[in-house]
Amino acid sequence: MIPRRAVFQGVGRPFSIETAPLPDALADGSVLVRVDLATICGSDLHTWLGRRPTPIPGVLGHEGVGRVVAVGHGVGHWLGRRITWSLAASCGRCAACTRHGLPQKCRELKKVGHDALESGDGWHGTYASHLVLPAGTHLVEVPASIPDRVAAPANCAWATVAAMLETLPQPCELAVVQGAGMLGLGACAMLRARGVERVVVVDVAEPRLAHAAAFGAEPALATARAHCAPRSADLVVELSGDPRVVAEGLDLLRPGGAYHFAGFVHPDSRFELAGERLVRGCLVLRGFHNYAPRHLDQALAYLADPPQVPWPELIPAPLPLERLDEAFALAAQRTRLRIAVRADLGPPP
Ligand SMILES: [Zn+2]
Ligand SMILES: [Zn+2]
Repeated sequence: MIPRRAVFQGVGRPFSIETAPLPDALADGSVLVRVDLATICGSDLHTWLGRRPTPIPGVLGHEGVGRVVAVGHGVGHWLGRRITWSLAASCGRCAACTRHGLPQKCRELKKVGHDALESGDGWHGTYASHLVLPAGTHLVEVPASIPDRVAAPANCAWATVAAMLETLPQPCELAVVQGAGMLGLGACAMLRARGVERVVVVDVAEPRLAHAAAFGAEPALATARAHCAPRSADLVVELSGDPRVVAEGLDLLRPGGAYHFAGFVHPDSRFELAGERLVRGCLVLRGFHNYAPRHLDQALAYLADPPQVPWPELIPAPLPLERLDEAFALAAQRTRLRIAVRADLGPPP
């Protein structure tokens, strides 16, 4: 396979496919991965649509699975292994990494798919045949039982969900999930696997709710009120990114209930909260952004022990890297949970 990458040239402009040499030598602790499959997630779409700044030109993409084909000093044991990786490399020394337990907020955080092409060797994103992962990236071997299409989104969607659900209110018998995208449905399945008796998933788009039952959840169109009495939910999980859902979520929580937020990764996220509701409700509100290495381990462990969810069928067959523009246009329709691309399907340039 000729090494090549799809370079983002800015909003409204097509990706350019460029060939480039692979690095001759790798820095200590870093690995070179041949990307077997990459998937397009909502944050890539935000970038592509111009809602999130990124250095231009650059290689986007962080979700993926691949095989280690070269290694720097000290990580030789990874050579030849099929892996996925944390979204970011962290230093392991700063306060966030050590005392705060939030390596994803490391002072020197380096995220996959966020660098300018001219910085370093340019192999920074998964929309490419190859990817260099720097030292400090958490690598995880992907068991053969997990197909590429399931493994690729694990390092973003599934690991974030694992982080959000690590601590649940006790007891947690009824949960409401707001948003039936990939993370929302993943949250439904994981909550059920954690023993939550009833999970209601709310979305404004009926097609997205079609898979709810397969993920163990009751579908609710636009509102959960027909499924869940006020002050009855132990947990509400916000994954819709729409601040208008918060009023209902607050209303549904029982005294001492928890509201976990992860969808507001954009500035249009103001909502109203009466302090009295927070105090009298003894509510716990918590935000989650990305995850720590252990959450990626948890996500892979969950996916390896085959969950009763039809993931592979929900992600259509991958498109070649050369058709990345088309793949993004399809992803923007948001009718499929993920659109996948593969570099080795394309014609050699
Ligand atoms: Zn992602
Ligand atoms: Zn750090």
